[in-house]
Amino acid sequence: MKVKYLGTAAAEGWPAVFCHCKDCEEARRRGGKNIRTRAQVLINEDLLMDLGPDTYLHSLAHGVDLAKVRTVLLTHSHTDHFYPSELIMHGGPYALGMEKYPMTLYGNETCRQFIERSVKYENGGAPLDGSVKFLLAEPGESFQAEGYEILPLSARHDVSEQCMIYSVKEAASGKSLLYANDTGLFPEETWERLKDMHFDLVSMDCTMGIRGGYDGHMSFADNLEVKRRLLAMGCADKDTIFISTHFSHTCCMPHEEFTEMAAEHGIQIAWDGMEVEAAPA
Ligand SMILES: [Zn+2]
Ligand SMILES: [Zn+2]
Ligand SMILES: [Zn+2]
Repeated sequence: MKVKYLGTAAAEGWPAVFCHCKDCEEARRRGGKNIRTRAQVLINEDLLMDLGPDTYLHSLAHGVDLAKVRTVLLTHSHTDHFYPSELIMHGGPYALGMEKYPMTLYGNETCRQFIERSVKYENGGAPLDGSVKFLLAEPGESFQAEGYEILPLSARHDVSEQCMIYSVKEAASGKSLLYANDTGLFPEETWERLKDMHFDLVSMDCTMGIRGGYDGHMSFADNLEVKRRLLAMGCADKDTIFISTHFSHTCCMPHEEFTEMAAEHGIQIAWDGMEVEAAPA
């Protein structure tokens, strides 16, 4: 199972859209892995975690053929994760010669309403092309999706909607990813559901970086706690890869320093374009 990080920033990006603080200027000066766009991950070539505002940019920057994406797992409706108007471009006169790749999105009720709004105001009320389907996902209710076994789990993020993290298992290889953003330390019901599961790769919300102090996102210290608890529960082992992502520039260090610090704890700091392969059997 190939996992490619297309974007690794929190909502504001890093450098942040309008910001000229010293951390943003430093990111602009260093460039490379210090340039972070909004969080998104591509699994193999056909499964996207979230469909944020930088999806199109990601396809250009990383040579991603978005027509090959069959499944999109939406964590929640925050606009750094979901830009529903893009779905209008999946059909009609905007997308030609790719009918054989229908795309199904899974998400919560708020995401469904956002699609409805886009269709109403930006597509003249005409429904989305038949190549795009949306299905409601519920925490704890697993489903099969085009070669993957998916289990949505409750996140601790925004009580105004049902935010979710996802377990994604590649059916062919049995390799599993736990994709855990946006979320604070997991709710107890999620820990309960994780019992008896095993992950080859764990991707964690690290929005609060070295600062912490916010309930709906994790810090690096929280990531260490997630790692500790998953290992103790047998949900991870010495071969499990742990990665931190979704960084806010107000709380984190530049990539090089952060990477060095995290390496001491056996955690990798994601960067835009980073590709990881869950260890082969
Ligand atoms: Zn976010
Ligand atoms: Zn800044
Ligand atoms: Zn969010």
